[in-house]
Amino acid sequence: MIAVLKHGTTADQAQQLVTWLQHMNIDVHISEGQEVTVLGLIGDTSRIDMELLSSLEIVESVKRVSEPFKQANRKFHPKDTVIQVGNAKIGGGHFAMIAGPCSVESEEQIIEVATAVKASGADILRGGAFKPRTSPYAFQGMKEKGIELLLKAKAATGLPIITEIMNIRALDLFADVDIIQVGARNMQNFDLLQELGKTDKPILLKRGLANTLQELLMSAEYIMSEGNENVILCERGIRTFETYTRNTLDLSAVSVLHDLTHLPVVVDPSHATGKAKLVPPMALAATAAGADGIMVEVHNNPACALCDGAQSLTPAQFDSLNQQVQKIREAMV
Ligand code: PEP
Ligand code: MN
Repeated sequence: MIAVLKHGTTADQAQQLVTWLQHMNIDVHISEGQEVTVLGLIGDTSRIDMELLSSLEIVESVKRVSEPFKQANRKFHPKDTVIQVGNAKIGGGHFAMIAGPCSVESEEQIIEVATAVKASGADILRGGAFKPRTSPYAFQGMKEKGIELLLKAKAATGLPIITEIMNIRALDLFADVDIIQVGARNMQNFDLLQELGKTDKPILLKRGLANTLQELLMSAEYIMSEGNENVILCERGIRTFETYTRNTLDLSAVSVLHDLTHLPVVVDPSHATGKAKLVPPMALAATAAGADGIMVEVHNNPACALCDGAQSLTPAQFDSLNQQVQKIREAMV
């Protein structure tokens, strides 16, 4: 339920109403705009008498919302959320290019890729240290050492870093990581989401392989309901009957999510397509669709990559993609 307060309501009057609602076991999310204050009522609102609430002097209007996601809902929070890490901003008109290898493989590799993508204009460095692999026999990532190497690359280039967490027990290792990624396979690991909700780190939440947009938003809600509102959503393709591509990129997700939520939306065309050749066109399409950022895999030697070489761009390919993306951005203003 949403209550819009009348222009001119004082902070004291608003607080009295909030306290009254809290006594009825309702959590209240307050969004103060320039013109009006919007209260998002979270919890069992079925016992609230809408007529009574509407009749209060300071209340302009009251509306029930049918969507089960409240904190992520744009209706409660009309303004775009902007996430800032280092000099990079994502959301609300700010666009971030996230690039780097699927996995951190060695110090030379991550420093070389980080230096190259920085020179081409990347804003954030990606690199997997803990890798969710389908086979237990495949390379599982460098783990703790991988995070250490990412931190070295961050120190060498000044780029903020993003890397995936698979188990909350590893959280201490992420203290200096700028954005924690929750991978597609963990989108509905609710315990993990709740624990990340108790931190104040930006979380990039990837859409699950077979999850709806509402499920994605409910997973964001798990993080936000614990207090962490710094969530970035990521469309990375979903599983369909099509086998030519690794997944099917759902580009309409960008527009739908922008309608439904204030959270930034990033697109990952690498995992969506599985083929390096398809990454630039899909990255450009995602930019044109209004994505707040693009995340692409870049490897200094894709043929020898320990993971996802087939979908990795070379630094030169990334350089040319980034220039094209910037042109699309310019054409959009
Ligand atoms: C990744 O980005 O490294 C990754 C494993 O992607 P996804 O979770 O989308 O498969
Ligand atoms: Mn990968």
